[in-house]
Amino acid sequence: MSNDAEVPSPHRRGLMLVLSSPSGAGKTTLSRQLLENDSRIKLSISCTTRERRPGEVDGVDYHFIDTASFRDMLERGEFLEHARVFDHYYGTPGSPVAEALDAGGDMLFDIDWQGTQQLKEKGRDDLVTVFILPPSTHDLEKRLITRAQDSPDIVARRMAKAADEMSHWAEYDYVIINRDIATSLIQLKSILTAERLKRERQYGLADFVMALREGR
Ligand code: 5GP
Repeated sequence: MSNDAEVPSPHRRGLMLVLSSPSGAGKTTLSRQLLENDSRIKLSISCTTRERRPGEVDGVDYHFIDTASFRDMLERGEFLEHARVFDHYYGTPGSPVAEALDAGGDMLFDIDWQGTQQLKEKGRDDLVTVFILPPSTHDLEKRLITRAQDSPDIVARRMAKAADEMSHWAEYDYVIINRDIATSLIQLKSILTAERLKRERQYGLADFVMALREGR
């Protein structure tokens, strides 16, 4: 039998896991729990021009930047995608994503349907998209109110916007109805596991199988 180091083993290319949902469907909680549970996936930290909410940390939840800086980054082509949401700009810086994927790590994106569409238009085969739906309108509104991070008029605007956002569900590969976080997390982890095992994402399988067949 040969030394382990000589046996070819399959390597995996990183994938881009996109989560979209209307605000209040539980996407942030779900992504946080996925990140805590799985060290092989990292969050893509977006840039935004919106105000920081209580509890949010610059450089952790978002890079909070002003509109002029956002425009500069946009002009320099530093965003993989960007969109205007609720009167503010949001964008995904490209270089951290490229670095993570090249190193075989996965990236999690909390972006809206506009950003997802832009990534899809790039024809990337490393893209896996998941849409999170609330179990009911009542539930969605309740979550937006109890979150208490936004003023009542913003909550009303977000409810109106939710209907728009939800109309894009059919553009996603997977849909999860978030009745409870624990179940949704299991479902999300199952999607990630299955996508990681896709044949075309596992480099070096041919050499690996050849070695097995040759008894190496
Ligand atoms: P929030 O202001 O509540 O954090 O986010 C508002 C919306 O903007 C959410 O739907 C969120 O997914 C989306 N969003 C956050 N970052 C980005 C981004 O970099 N690009 C795009 N297209 N949407 C984003």
